[in-house]
Amino acid sequence: MTSELRIGIGTDVHPIEAGRPCWLAGLFWPNVDGCAGHSDGDVVCHAACDALLSAAGLGDLGAMFGVADPELAGASGVRLLTEVVSRLHAHGWRVGNVAIQLIGNRPKLSPRRMDAEALLSDVVGAPVSLSATTTDGLGLTGRGEGIASIATALISR
Ligand code: MG
Repeated sequence: MTSELRIGIGTDVHPIEAGRPCWLAGLFWPNVDGCAGHSDGDVVCHAACDALLSAAGLGDLGAMFGVADPELAGASGVRLLTEVVSRLHAHGWRVGNVAIQLIGNRPKLSPRRMDAEALLSDVVGAPVSLSATTTDGLGLTGRGEGIASIATALISR
């Protein structure tokens, strides 16, 4: 019997808010303005969540948790990702890998990229690769107004 494979896609964007703690890819980034949002604004984790839910045909983060759920105020991206992976497991899926790209000026990912990948791979239980790019000063990420992230996921059962 061959295994059933599915891919998914997820995107997230949050506005940067001066003075807000920066949580990205499950890590705290000191001296960097973080993202505003109902949760901790971790666009990397949120895009990964949506890619996994997309692959499994289980909707998206907004549908799963509800954007106004008071229980989720300030919820960490890692917590959301943990719950999404549990949801997939409950539906018989296992994660093959997740690839995530961060789009923004700050923080500079490269010095901590491997730490972030190790942490997220541990949370997901499968390889998570993380890369980053800028938009050469163009658009909301280039102007430093926000941070964006795009993710894909491969799952099987
Ligand atoms: Mg989000």
